[in-house]
Amino acid sequence: MGKYKRILLKLSGEALANTKNTIDPNTLGKVISIIQSALDQKVELGIVVGGGNIFRGAALAESGMNRVTGDHMGMLATVMNALAISDACKRNKIKTLVMSGFPIGGGVCDPVDHNKAKQALSEGKVVIFSAGTGSPCFTTDTGAVLRAIEIDADIVFKATKVDGVYTDDPMKNPSATRYEALSFDEAIEKNLQIMDTAAFALCREHNLQICVFSMLENTNTLSDILKGASLGTIIS
Ligand code: UDP
Repeated sequence: MGKYKRILLKLSGEALANTKNTIDPNTLGKVISIIQSALDQKVELGIVVGGGNIFRGAALAESGMNRVTGDHMGMLATVMNALAISDACKRNKIKTLVMSGFPIGGGVCDPVDHNKAKQALSEGKVVIFSAGTGSPCFTTDTGAVLRAIEIDADIVFKATKVDGVYTDDPMKNPSATRYEALSFDEAIEKNLQIMDTAAFALCREHNLQICVFSMLENTNTLSDILKGASLGTIIS
């Protein structure tokens, strides 16, 4: 058996979009490959998905909307993404359970319940958590850490555009190098922006490891890390 038994994968909403589609079917296909290859490594998989491809509360507030209303719309956006991922999973014979941080009902999805989530995970279902924390003024990164703690995940995998945490911005500084591992204290001391402050503080307090990795370049990266490859950056 590998190092991890149960993992939480944080997918940003933005990663699902392309210039034409809010949810790009091609990208959704890649997400399914990533999910399947992780399941092939015999891990239990929880997913928290963002909503940035549809709405972000802060951006809506900039154009005058009430921030709380904007955040509600942002959270509803994550529910749409979760339904799209769940539907794509089902089409590929991957069983799922979609939960929401606030009650939605109507057969759309279930409210978050950590016991039901753990039960579903142990039955091999992928549990997709939507609506972040269920409260405004938070991010789905914080939602990811919160759900990871609730389901006793061994680690949070944060999928980003960059393949880890670098000494400097690798886009601007070609001599920047990737950290293989970092401690929470080092990340704070070096002021490395890994997750927002609330999410990062929660991880540190609960001793929950984070792995930052690049997802879409190669759909095997997550499963390679699960097999023990040193890709990405682990903060512990
Ligand atoms: N959001 C919120 N509370 C949460 C999580 C998310 O209010 O616990 C709202 C917030 O407006 C945020 C939006 O939902 O901008 C989409 O989430 P996020 O920006 O984290 O998505 P991502 O950047 O991962 O696509």
